[in-house]
Amino acid sequence: MQTGKIGVTTENIFPIIKKFLYSDHEIFLRELISNAVDATQKLKTMALAGDYKGVITDTTIHVSFDKKKKTITVSDKGIGMTKEELDKYLNQIAFSSANDFLDKYKDQINSIIGHFGLGFYSAFMVSDKVEVITKSYQEGAQAVKWSCDGSPEFSMDDVEKETIGTDVILYIDKESKDFLEESKIEQLLKKYCKFLPVEIAFGVEKEWKDGKMVETGKDKIINNTKPAWTLKPADLKEEDYLSFYRELYPAGDEPLFHIHLNVDYPFKLTGILYFPKIKSNIEIQKNKIQLYCNQVFVTDSVEGIVPEFLTLLHGVIDSPDIPLNVSRSYLQSDSNVKKISAHITKKVADRLNDIFKNNREEFEKKWDNLKLFIEYGMMTEEKFYEKASKFALLKNTEEKYFTFEEYEKIIKENQTDKNNTLIYLYSTNKTDQFTYIEKAKNKGYDVLILDGQLDVHLINQLESKLKDTRFVRVDSDVVDKLILKEETRESKLSVEQQDDLKSVFSVRVKSKEVYNVVFETLDEKEAPVIITQSEFMRRMKEMAQMGGGMNFYGELPDSYNLVVNPNHQLVIKISDDLKAEEGVKLTENNSERTKIKEEIAFMEQEHKKKKADEISQLEKDDLEKLRKELTTVENTRKDLLESYGASNNLVKQLIDLALLANNMLRGEELSIFVKRSVELL
Ligand code: ADP
Repeated sequence: MQTGKIGVTTENIFPIIKKFLYSDHEIFLRELISNAVDATQKLKTMALAGDYKGVITDTTIHVSFDKKKKTITVSDKGIGMTKEELDKYLNQIAFSSANDFLDKYKDQINSIIGHFGLGFYSAFMVSDKVEVITKSYQEGAQAVKWSCDGSPEFSMDDVEKETIGTDVILYIDKESKDFLEESKIEQLLKKYCKFLPVEIAFGVEKEWKDGKMVETGKDKIINNTKPAWTLKPADLKEEDYLSFYRELYPAGDEPLFHIHLNVDYPFKLTGILYFPKIKSNIEIQKNKIQLYCNQVFVTDSVEGIVPEFLTLLHGVIDSPDIPLNVSRSYLQSDSNVKKISAHITKKVADRLNDIFKNNREEFEKKWDNLKLFIEYGMMTEEKFYEKASKFALLKNTEEKYFTFEEYEKIIKENQTDKNNTLIYLYSTNKTDQFTYIEKAKNKGYDVLILDGQLDVHLINQLESKLKDTRFVRVDSDVVDKLILKEETRESKLSVEQQDDLKSVFSVRVKSKEVYNVVFETLDEKEAPVIITQSEFMRRMKEMAQMGGGMNFYGELPDSYNLVVNPNHQLVIKISDDLKAEEGVKLTENNSERTKIKEEIAFMEQEHKKKKADEISQLEKDDLEKLRKELTTVENTRKDLLESYGASNNLVKQLIDLALLANNMLRGEELSIFVKRSVELL
């Protein structure tokens, strides 16, 4: 028997490992099984090269546990180790000043474990004692048992072992007894070992027989040794990609497309990425990509490794070149990782472009489900925008799709305003904004449908990217003013008549929303009253709601324009009725008002001729008195107009019709409207 001290200069490397790895204890199983897989593959390679003459029949790695003895065992039939190798690999850890090193790289303890051949030692995170029984593939090799209780002391004995390979037996410590559960081990195997390239057996298969589950005696293999991403794309059919997707996400919706990644240079990377259907709610879709290193699962949190928008994709990336075990901040600055990121972004854009070019029909069919992903990419990655702006689509209210370039050509003629700005009209809700869409269409305009979660941002982006372009929601103004052209139309009501009607209408729209009554000289065939909401205010409020930081706008009440058309016969009728009923009083009021105004103007004129200190107090008082009189006269007029408005059913009816067209007339207001309509008929 040989005893000795493990060659770490510091006395206690195990407590350090235990301490730093506290949160990640479960990786011990991954590390031990990875070693077993390596040893197995090495033997296969040697056999291929003729360096191993024996016959390889079964290479299955067995994982087992014994609850009574408190052990977990990993057995492989790989190359095994000779006594010398055991001594070299397990006893003399190539560390000079482990303490300094560990101190410096505390945060990256995982990478130390991976990179400095400490994987095996992670066994001590969960064990009081570890035994290794191993027999080398070399002819005539003596089997050896190595044993160590976690202190730097170990023992090595010659033992009998029939087959070549290695058994690692962990004597699980008290704190780690949770690992001695079938379900727990199975869960870890499923998590880390699902796609390892060598079969891993844990337990036996069971089947239903005569109404109960019975053991079949066959090993239960927990992994798929040839996952789709490791195969050649030419050997895979569409169905294979789908079934692999289902293997990864048993509960997921079918994906739209996939990309098979296969890079050899300047880094190695394989993988399959799927485009999921994303209709809304980006957040819950993130982080579904799984990262592997030579088929060993590493993480499913790929933030910082791939660009933000790509975290929406599903699938697998496998690369031995990503320093997988290091901290995130290190990863983000790693040049390989950056190259990989850029490469994946490019591949994703190219793939989408291919589908667009070769099968536009299919691309259009899937667009609604793809749009969110593509828009997210365009907003967050300049490089992606450049490529995507060639195939990103805009959909109009007739469900037709256009690229940016195609659409620009279509609307150029009709929708360029007098300042040479191209106006993109859009709707966020085809049903609610139906009347506005119809009006725009009747005028020969085209209306886009932009109802996606990110469309507000897309609009801002496109306005800054495409030159001389503005997006205007179809209900943000009356149709004649959506796109301003050089044309003027005469109003059939005078400015004074419009002013009077403004009071008549204003009195009927007092509510918690703010309505601003304005007159627009529209065509006589246009509606008498229309409700619009300014593009600017609405967008500010929407951004505030999305957390854009513009809370000031978010807190403002909704404000609308109540646009009155002075050329519509019903509006003219109201004006005429007003004149018939209150004309005498209004004319009287008007002449009084004109008189006072003239007097004020005269006095002001006189005052202007003098220096400030030459104006007497009496003169000042006179002017002040006149101004007060004017206010009184004007208020009288306003009261008169308002009381007229308050009792005029036609005014209310026209406003309600406008609200109704906007889907804004509800509840009691609606039922009053219905009653009034019947009475008016
Ligand atoms: P790493 O695997 O990163 O090199 P480990 O500490 O896990 O570091 O293992 C150290 C070395 O011990 C391995 O490189 C390998 O040569 C040897 N070894 C570990 N486990 C086995 C095994 N199951 N079969 C054969 N050799 C092994």
